[in-house]
Amino acid sequence: MRGRRAENLTNDAAACYHCGMEEFRHSHALGQNFLTDRNLLAAIVADADVKSGDTVIEVGAGQGALTRPLAMTGARVFAFEIDGRLEGCLRELEKEYPALTVVMGDFMKSDAAALAAGPYKAVANLPYYITTPVLFRLLDDPMCEGVTVMVQKEVAERIVARPGGKDYGVLSVSAQLAGRPRITRTVGRQMFTPPPNVDSAVVHIDVCRRGDEKTAAVVRAAFSMRRKTLINCLAPVWGKSAAASAIEALGLDPAVRGERLSPEQYIELAKLL
Ligand code: SAM
Repeated sequence: MRGRRAENLTNDAAACYHCGMEEFRHSHALGQNFLTDRNLLAAIVADADVKSGDTVIEVGAGQGALTRPLAMTGARVFAFEIDGRLEGCLRELEKEYPALTVVMGDFMKSDAAALAAGPYKAVANLPYYITTPVLFRLLDDPMCEGVTVMVQKEVAERIVARPGGKDYGVLSVSAQLAGRPRITRTVGRQMFTPPPNVDSAVVHIDVCRRGDEKTAAVVRAAFSMRRKTLINCLAPVWGKSAAASAIEALGLDPAVRGERLSPEQYIELAKLL
């Protein structure tokens, strides 16, 4: 990794706890808050229910703290890492586990599904600056059958939020249409090196995919203009009268806003439009 992101390095320098790499300066811009607690790492692998024979995609391997217990399960693991400074460390780990493949590069530009070549589970301590795009990418991928990720606690609360609350939004609806999200554990900032400014949580989503592409399009439209009513958000795509009839058929207030509808109501709405 070169350029702007790699330059934004923290002042703390820590040795890698398993390969002995010294003086690694964490990149704040790349979300490099590493884990070292083996019990916590084992608990994340257990939350993900990774077993021998599974295929796993890890986004952001860092120094391999989570990669190692994932590989130890006997699963086929594809571990993505964007920061070239970590390649040596990860290649050492790769030599220990024949079923581990380290992929150096940007996960968002990769064809992860083609690499996995079948159903896979995604497990990661996510770099916080790209949490939402990574989550949407995984949830949109028909080959992804489970997601277990460390995210900021606030993001975890948004993912599991129910309609009407302040945390409920497009991420909640999308995650709850994709599966059954639940917070498996909260993790204090002191568990990371360096510690971030916020606490974190592990979210596990058993992916079962309800709703179709049209439902996803309706959800996107409904949350495209947060302050507008649902009718006004849907009107540019489906027309005002079709939007009004569908909302009425659902027995909803004509002035309802998108954040009042449950994922189940979005499925019905998409059928009606
Ligand atoms: N898995 C390690 C751990 O738990 O200690 C590291 C997790 S750290 C929160 C996130 C990692 O993601 C960093 O090593 C960072 O360099 C990497 N990363 C950031 N952006 C990435 C991207 N677009 N594609 C792949 N890896 C990325």
